[in-house]
Amino acid sequence: MSLWEIIRRLYPYVLPYRRLVISTLLLTLVGSLAAQVNPFVLRYTVDTVQKLLDTNQGLSQGIPMLLWVSGLLLGKEIINTFIQFGQKFYGEKIRISVSSTLSQDAIHKILSYQLGFYSDSGNQTGKLQTRIDRGVESLMKLVQNFFIDILPLFANAVVALVVMYAANVYVGLVATFILPIYFWISYRQADKLNGTRRALRGLREQKSQGLVNLIDSAVVIKSFVREDYEEQKQNGLQQQLQEAQLETRKTNFVYDGLKTFVEQVGVVLIIILTAYLVLSGQMTIGAIMFHILLFNNVSAPIRQLHRIYDEMNEALTYSEGFFDILDAQDAKEKTGTLPADHVRGTFDICNVDFTYPSGTQALHDVCLTIEEGKTTALVGLSGAGKSTILNLLCKFYEPDHGKMLLDGQPLADYDTHALRQRIGLVLQKNHIFKGSIEENIRYGVMDATFEQIQAAARQAYLHDQILELPKGYQSDAQQLSGGQQQRIAIARLFLKNPPIIFLDEPTASLDAIATEQIKNSLDAIKQGRTVVIISHSLAQIVDSDCIYVMKQGRMVESGTHDQLYDLRGTYREIFDASARSLNIEKLAKAMVDDGDEVEDTAG
Ligand code: ADP
Repeated sequence: MSLWEIIRRLYPYVLPYRRLVISTLLLTLVGSLAAQVNPFVLRYTVDTVQKLLDTNQGLSQGIPMLLWVSGLLLGKEIINTFIQFGQKFYGEKIRISVSSTLSQDAIHKILSYQLGFYSDSGNQTGKLQTRIDRGVESLMKLVQNFFIDILPLFANAVVALVVMYAANVYVGLVATFILPIYFWISYRQADKLNGTRRALRGLREQKSQGLVNLIDSAVVIKSFVREDYEEQKQNGLQQQLQEAQLETRKTNFVYDGLKTFVEQVGVVLIIILTAYLVLSGQMTIGAIMFHILLFNNVSAPIRQLHRIYDEMNEALTYSEGFFDILDAQDAKEKTGTLPADHVRGTFDICNVDFTYPSGTQALHDVCLTIEEGKTTALVGLSGAGKSTILNLLCKFYEPDHGKMLLDGQPLADYDTHALRQRIGLVLQKNHIFKGSIEENIRYGVMDATFEQIQAAARQAYLHDQILELPKGYQSDAQQLSGGQQQRIAIARLFLKNPPIIFLDEPTASLDAIATEQIKNSLDAIKQGRTVVIISHSLAQIVDSDCIYVMKQGRMVESGTHDQLYDLRGTYREIFDASARSLNIEKLAKAMVDDGDEVEDTAG
């Protein structure tokens, strides 16, 4: 990305603050004029003192001049304080406002993208975060640099240079001669840093990603006692980071030294030249002070040049990653215009192929029909493509080929948000947000009353358990057990009360009692709704109205439990394996014996 492109991209963000920008620019101009007062005043002072000495006049004759000069310098300084304050404050105000708009824009864009965007390797949680933070930070440094450093300093430099030329062309030429050398060194420095900066960026992203992973996998790391291994991995990264940082510092120290030297050469040349002009009677002695101060005004901003260059390069490096996020238009979730307020859930899926953005083809030529008001089960070994079907039905992804109809209309034509309002999705593991239980259940319907939340919790068999907690509904939801968190997800479903329900192994992580309770509450909510259930638990499948069996991304069998059982195909295989794993014969014998005992005692 070029600087020009960045400016073009930032322009719309700065536009709303144009008044502030103009005020800042005006203040900058006044400030750079005020900065030239010192050299003039000092030249006048030195010359006047010299004249007094030459005419043998003493302190008493000098006092009015001293008072006048002090008054002028102080007055200028007071005005300067206000100018600087205004300029910095407005500059900062522009920076902060633009920065928050940029961050907000990134968040808005990310939320509007498809799920595929998040699974892209460049967009994993830590990386995305670093890209946004670094991008906004470096862009803002650019804006801040422009208003607070570049503009005032360079305005100063240009005005000082013009004054130098006006005073003496040769003096102006010396200053102009030093500048390109200085520029060249700064350019070399920035160029050298650019390579290390890219490396640093990559390493920083890896490190923050690594930390996020560490926290996520803490339990596994500890249970396998892999602390040392993980530490070694982080340590290697840290070493590389250290080396890259040190390299950057070393380059800076070398080039900074070189620049100071060149600047001092400039000062010496100016002193020699001016001394010559004074001694040959072409100038008064005050000119020495005058020229050195002017040269200082020219060189001060140039001294900052490498930092500005540096930060500009940083902005160039990081802004690309940031604007890529804003520009990922292809990732934007598609939506139609068809209202979904009355959909009941008859899905017709025909010849659907689907490939995940990673390249895994998860569905091959899949056909199925989901009938309104009925329960349809999807069965198959793990990885068969069952969850993928739900992903497509929720419009989280689009199929590569094939037809998907809902109530006779193409699924793609429906308003995506309206459609999802009609669907309740409960997964094996549902996300619990940081916050209280009440807030987490409320996610189902944001404006639900507390009574409605309690009713939903009751239906999910959660209410009594919540009451036993010291803080009740205000307890931290993330501290709850897996089973309780699952009930929160089901309470959200009850609260949302959608006509279409997708259940993806909703009881897989629960104990037997919880499974039974939740099965009961799900059976209650299923009435009159369209339900698609994925489950490994036979009990939840056998009484479905229709069962579809999947194998390696293909639909292989369909029918009712009895039909599929008699077919002796994949379903039967899975069914028999499940029955064996449950040790059904022994369980049945135990139940029969128990029944006999009861009968005996009764007899
Ligand atoms: P099931 O629900 O039957 O266990 P899935 O539908 O989850 O199976 O997965 C089907 C295939 O798609 C698997 O090979 C799985 O690895 C792959 N898959 C699932 N989710 C993703 C994803 N987000 N990105 C890439 N591949 C995926």
